[in-house]
Amino acid sequence: MDLRATAEAPSSPQLKDRQDIPDHFKWNLAHIFADWREWQAAYDELETKIAGYAALQGTLNQGALHVLATMKLQDEIGQLTYKVWYFASLRYDEDQRDNQINAKRQQVQILFAKLNQASAWFNPELLRIPLPTIQRWLNENDELAVYRFALEDLYRLQEHVLDDKGERLLSLSSRFSSSPNDSYSALSTADVCYPTVTLPSGGEVTLTYGQYRAILATHRNQADRAMAFTEYHELYASNINTYAALYHGVLQRDWFHSQARDYRTTLDAVLHGNNIPPAVVENLIETTKAGTVPLRRYHRLRKRVLGLDTYHVYDTTIPLVDFDRKYAYENVLEWLPASVERLGRDYQAQMQEGLAGGWIDVYENQGKRSGAYSAPVYGVHPYMLLNYNDTLDAVFTLAHEMGHSMHTLLSNAHQPFVYSAYTIFVAEVASTLSEALFLEYMLARATDEREKIVLLQHAIDGIVSTFYTQVMFADFELQAHRLVESDRPVTADALADIYFSLVKAYHGDAVDYDDLSRVTWARIPHFFSTPYYVYQYATCFASSAQLMKQLTTGSAAERSTAIERYLSLLKAGGSDHPMTLLQHAGVDLSKPEPVRAVVDQLDDLVTQLETAIDHLKPRSM
Ligand SMILES: [Zn+2]
Repeated sequence: MDLRATAEAPSSPQLKDRQDIPDHFKWNLAHIFADWREWQAAYDELETKIAGYAALQGTLNQGALHVLATMKLQDEIGQLTYKVWYFASLRYDEDQRDNQINAKRQQVQILFAKLNQASAWFNPELLRIPLPTIQRWLNENDELAVYRFALEDLYRLQEHVLDDKGERLLSLSSRFSSSPNDSYSALSTADVCYPTVTLPSGGEVTLTYGQYRAILATHRNQADRAMAFTEYHELYASNINTYAALYHGVLQRDWFHSQARDYRTTLDAVLHGNNIPPAVVENLIETTKAGTVPLRRYHRLRKRVLGLDTYHVYDTTIPLVDFDRKYAYENVLEWLPASVERLGRDYQAQMQEGLAGGWIDVYENQGKRSGAYSAPVYGVHPYMLLNYNDTLDAVFTLAHEMGHSMHTLLSNAHQPFVYSAYTIFVAEVASTLSEALFLEYMLARATDEREKIVLLQHAIDGIVSTFYTQVMFADFELQAHRLVESDRPVTADALADIYFSLVKAYHGDAVDYDDLSRVTWARIPHFFSTPYYVYQYATCFASSAQLMKQLTTGSAAERSTAIERYLSLLKAGGSDHPMTLLQHAGVDLSKPEPVRAVVDQLDDLVTQLETAIDHLKPRSM
């Protein structure tokens, strides 16, 4: 398909009623259940099985066959759960105004709560059996041996579980553990009074977060962006001591739980679940900080291209060129499978099947849920919700979700049910690699310098926001938690000093600094809601960068080994700890190489961007 055909392709339909969208642009949920009657029958069956599970209490210590029967019933319940939940939930997302479907969805949630109660006996009862006994049973029974990793991991996690009295005390504290984050939401969202400002270029605007982002990304007048930045950050500056006190609450809570469970640090506590050594995070932070040269090169280039005398944090997202090509969905259906040719015929064919086979709900309609996701419906196939609007962002979103879906497909096909789900720690590897392959394909076929520039900026901005920024955030969280771990005071100034010195360490003299950047930490909801979470985006990104390097460089033999290893990672699902799975795929996150692969990737993209911009020079930007 040539570029002209793309440019002339019809644009996407306007917001329609669902029944006006042709069926081949909708997912086909009949692959799960033919109708609500079939769904109800499965729901009833699930309810019966849950009651059956509760009845198994007290049987585990009678031997291997009893443990096996319990594990098998767990699998049956789990498999049914996927279908019963997703049929209702996906139908609901088609049109969230439908109260009847919402009621069915809530009906499933109530059943899940019952399931939790009915299965609460399992862990304590299992863990009362000595590990050597379980291991003997695993060795003696081949069918039970399938569950070895799952069962042994429960014993590993047990190390930091307290006695009944201690666990009860901790569970009593959970009621107020969420209080700092609840207060943060109230202060930053519910009670906030967004300022209405008149921009230097004219026009009045109420500065919600969405408006603020939109001004930074679309207003060519720097004074508009400067005003939006100042006014929006004043919101946080004016309450900064309250924000600091709330964050202090988060830090003290994390430290309390870590000490109560006998972890050395808050970082150790949070990494134990996935069995990640703390050195991984420390290495991530150090190697990234040492690899900021291409980041600074990018910002200096932006300053030059945008023709700015001073360059600020609010100048970092405006597009370098104006370009509004539309990407018709029909074209992407051909490009996407072509972009994964490296991964082999089978992979390509399976993706084509997905694109044609009722997996995807493409366009927006009245009442449809916003955003995009991939839903792993075990026993059927993955489904994808999109709100495709012909923009470049929408194209890459499809590539991203398709990466998740292919991961699900391969993992479900090659793993027993118990290991079919993968953790977040590996999930974003498949999606970001899918995007990287798609970028490579699109860059190769782009003949228009402007399109190249837009593609390169899209890729670079992706690296900056999903990698550099997330590592910087992880560094901030680690240093902030270390304040309480070493009995140092946590004040608004102390937090501002940590944050501002990080911003400077990353950007050096490539950026002109504003004092209001000292409060930016207060506007990051992740710090309050999910501490130590964001680093996982960065480790996934680094893993995928190194895999991309291995897939695309070296001898043909080396490349084909790398492809096999990558596909094995996707097929491995959740059958081992994520670090081990990644090691088998050729990525060792305890070493600097994966991070260096990101740094090299960014360096290469910035060089390509410089070249594309030089080619464009004769014409006006
Ligand atoms: Zn994702």
